[in-house]
Amino acid sequence: MTDSEINRLKQKQSEIIKEINEYQKNCKHENEVIKMVQEGSTSTLKVHCSDCDILLRYPTQEETKRYLSNEK
Ligand SMILES: [Zn+2]
Repeated sequence: MTDSEINRLKQKQSEIIKEINEYQKNCKHENEVIKMVQEGSTSTLKVHCSDCDILLRYPTQEETKRYLSNEK
């Protein structure tokens, strides 16, 4: 991979990140979804917006319990 090639890809990447940020900024986050997110060796439950995938908050104990019982 040449220098200009990697620069071109990085340029593209930052444009996409900007686009995602813009999309998430304009989203009203009306639909929540609980997701299991792998972080190293542990997995954490998080509440994401199902439209733009932004992290909204962490689930409550009640939500965690419900999610885990639905898993089975
Ligand atoms: Zn959203």
